[in-house]
Amino acid sequence: MVGAGPGDPELLTVKAHRLLRQAEVVLHDDLVPAEILALAGPRAEIVNVGKRCGAKGIAQAEINARMIESARRGLDVVRLKSGDPGIFGRLNEEIDALEAAGVPFEVVPGITAGIGAAAALGVSLTDRRKSSRVIVVTGHHAGTSEQKKPDWKNLAREDATLVVYMPGHDFAGLRAELLAAGLGAETPAVIVSRATTPQQLHQCTTLGEIDKLPRMESPAILLIGRSLERARRESNAQDASPDLDRVELILSSL
Ligand code: SAH
Repeated sequence: MVGAGPGDPELLTVKAHRLLRQAEVVLHDDLVPAEILALAGPRAEIVNVGKRCGAKGIAQAEINARMIESARRGLDVVRLKSGDPGIFGRLNEEIDALEAAGVPFEVVPGITAGIGAAAALGVSLTDRRKSSRVIVVTGHHAGTSEQKKPDWKNLAREDATLVVYMPGHDFAGLRAELLAAGLGAETPAVIVSRATTPQQLHQCTTLGEIDKLPRMESPAILLIGRSLERARRESNAQDASPDLDRVELILSSL
């Protein structure tokens, strides 16, 4: 059960890289990019078992069956999940199936999307002066039968950074919930699409204005909290004026 990190192949752990090279079967999620799959050994069988391939319930049972069947054939199987396998990755369900089948396994952590996104923006999710906790949560979108809808009232805190996975598109709804729960409209918010990949895009705003955010390419993650003030300043500065450091660099290289 291996974490592939948020997208940048260089953010794989050394262990994940080694296991990928040695694997005989790689069962991966949709979000794992081709550059990372290319690190698997030449003889590895690579199978996309992403949920988008079929109905959710059926697909999960099939993934479990495939893992177990390959392991029983004595093959080295890497179940490769984006980010960290234990963050919104149905890891426990797959472990239950492996345990029931008597298949030994190991969990290799990965850098989760929220941590990757914050690093890519050059911001800290905690700040001694502003934010003493990080709350990792799935958005509106995932409020289906299997995933409990977040209890925003208890999650919205001035001293916390909210990391919203699968934020969906109903930002007006999210804004209303968080404002009603007591968060200030001026609280910084950043949406990051395809964090840590060459296609990364981000948009800084405030909670009061998240409903005006443009639709970003999936996967995207939403960060909300006062520790992100820095990201906001930087993106505004970049929009308003040329990046002087970069101009200097270009000039000195001419
Ligand atoms: N186990 C993964 C999360 C899987 S849930 C992890 O630890 O990162 C899938 C959600 O993760 C996406 O809907 C999106 O919200 C987020 N996500 C994954 N990769 C991302 C990326 N590169 N950039 C932004 N969000 C990402």
